[in-house]
Amino acid sequence: MIPINDLVITPQVEAEVREAIDRVLRRGWYLYGPELESFEREFARYCHVEHGVGVANGTDALELGLRSLGVGHGDDVIVAANAGMYATTALRAIGARPVFADVDPGSLNLSVETVAPLVEDGCKAILVTHLFGRMADMATFRDLADSVGVKLMEDCAQAHGARQHGRPAGCWGDAAAFSFYPTKNLGAMGDGGMVTTPSEEVGVRLRRLRQYGWKTKYVSVEDHGRNSRLDEMQAAVLRAKLPYLDKNNTRRQAIARAFAAVEHNDITHPDVEGPDYVAHLYVLRSENRDSLREHLATHEIQTAVHYPMLDTQQPSLPKAWRNSGRLMESEKATSRILTLPCYPGLGDEKVAKICQTLRRWQST
Ligand SMILES: *Cc1c(COP(=O)(O)O)cnc(C)c1O
Repeated sequence: MIPINDLVITPQVEAEVREAIDRVLRRGWYLYGPELESFEREFARYCHVEHGVGVANGTDALELGLRSLGVGHGDDVIVAANAGMYATTALRAIGARPVFADVDPGSLNLSVETVAPLVEDGCKAILVTHLFGRMADMATFRDLADSVGVKLMEDCAQAHGARQHGRPAGCWGDAAAFSFYPTKNLGAMGDGGMVTTPSEEVGVRLRRLRQYGWKTKYVSVEDHGRNSRLDEMQAAVLRAKLPYLDKNNTRRQAIARAFAAVEHNDITHPDVEGPDYVAHLYVLRSENRDSLREHLATHEIQTAVHYPMLDTQQPSLPKAWRNSGRLMESEKATSRILTLPCYPGLGDEKVAKICQTLRRWQST
């Protein structure tokens, strides 16, 4: 069986991770210590920003990131509806209102064409998710946000190491959220997250928000403070793995290019070119998605669907916000998308088997 993911690390990385964990054990310092400080510095530098603030997970990074930009109860924030409900969950926690914009039919990301008309109606911020590891057009989003004076936030949970015009995901927004969930391009061995920001002021606010709103010990000056920590073990693991991120992304990109070279009249491949796609997920589209999925399962190839429903279709969402009428491209894609296994540990033989199995599929 070829699983949709395999998180076992190579012996070399394993040795380095063990050494990192040993370092934490010997030190006996488990929260807000030197590993977190170093990882925040190292990851911020990797993202070309001044400040990195570790938090407990990616959803917290979204919530605290939005709060640090001044998004509060009742504010409108523009988001995509096809990005797994994470952004909407963060907005719901704040009491802010998701304003759903449709996506570009090619990249399935928000585009300035889909977002600009909604910005004119007024909003506090635009939250752009770099879906499947493909960056949205950030230079254009940056111009749009600046020209109308709204905040721009990135969700980089699927795009660690992606670069556009030489600048990494995470340095374009006023703040950017990362998740280090184990399957991400940079994954911890448990939960983890970070907010990156070029702003000293936003950074200071984030450090307060993640620790009860404290300015100094036991003195809470920031409303809506939380407890959201990236612990020393995870920070040490992430420090050990960060030097391998670019190499792993290169391997993911090579696998994606191999899939994209398979010609089939009922398979539409994603654009796999350029450094702004780090192949977090390989998501193809087909008119007969379920039949293709079954064919692959018969040949012991596991697949997934990211994501089977739009945020606007989620039962938890208040009915008044299920304004799905204008999300034509998002809806259309939902029944066609299929995710293939694509991760650094996927060997050439397995990649070849997946390609061959795709080629042999007789679409009905
Ligand atoms: C994984 C993911 C998140 C959430 O990260 P957690 O660490 O699981 O909270 C947010 N946004 C996107 C796009 C993701 O893929």
